[in-house]
Amino acid sequence: MESIKDKIKKLKKEKNALILAHYYQDIEIQDIADFVGDSFELAKKAKQAKENIIVFCGVHFMAEGAKILNPEKTVILPVKEAGCPMADMASAEDVIVLKEQYPDAAVVTYVNSTADVKAVSDICCTSSSALKVVGSLPNKQIIFVPDENLGQYVAKQIKDKEVITFKGYCPVHKRVTVQDVEEVREELPDALMLVHPECTPEVLDKSDFIGSTSQIIKKALESESKNIIIGTEVGVVEYLKKKDPNKNYYLLSPKMTCINMKKTSLKDVLSALKNSEYEINLEKEAIGKAYNSLNRMMNV
Ligand code: SF4
Repeated sequence: MESIKDKIKKLKKEKNALILAHYYQDIEIQDIADFVGDSFELAKKAKQAKENIIVFCGVHFMAEGAKILNPEKTVILPVKEAGCPMADMASAEDVIVLKEQYPDAAVVTYVNSTADVKAVSDICCTSSSALKVVGSLPNKQIIFVPDENLGQYVAKQIKDKEVITFKGYCPVHKRVTVQDVEEVREELPDALMLVHPECTPEVLDKSDFIGSTSQIIKKALESESKNIIIGTEVGVVEYLKKKDPNKNYYLLSPKMTCINMKKTSLKDVLSALKNSEYEINLEKEAIGKAYNSLNRMMNV
């Protein structure tokens, strides 16, 4: 009998579709994807896609980003309810209010945001490009939306800017505590600890390395350490175990699972291909404005 994976492969070919998956997706989804990456890598792939359909296995703002960067394509998010709580914390109105308060500031928006927020921003950034993006701007004041922890991390590194942070956060990374770090350090004193900047400043201070998802993966694969503690979503641990099974990977805290990223199943991907659901539709005007912010980031 034809397996679900074979059915997906067949239908993908028939429909001329590209399947993109984030590192935080379940490993079985990563297995059937044409490309697995972090937000920035996936945005680049989406922009260059030649296929008619992009099936985005991730959360809503990522599929929206793909539509903004390649509006001629049909972009499908297999699970309608796969959202990102952090992206939903900031609205375009919140940004407009901040802009009125700080008229000389540039608005830097983390890609984990809605299309409406991107549309009222000057430039976007990802966790891998945040320092470069902020450093590239002539403005002394920066409004950083929506992730407060990433904004504070940037402010600490780039001392000649005043970074005004919005109070958004990623629940998955924010829930890691210093106590979690101390406990795992006690158990694995020689392990290398790699942490995502969406974690709190106190947790970042206690880590060995701070980086985006792809930077964490690169560091883990290149490191001489046998034991590595991963301070980001559990999907990265699964990816690394498959990529280099000769090392031991430990999750910094068992709380680091993003339920939204885990909503997509193989059945959903098959049904997305069969029924072209759920298609991302955006107003032309919003696409244009949000495109400018995203494209400016990609050119930095
Ligand atoms: S890990 Fe955090 S930022 Fe990423 S999708 Fe989940 S809730 Fe949003």
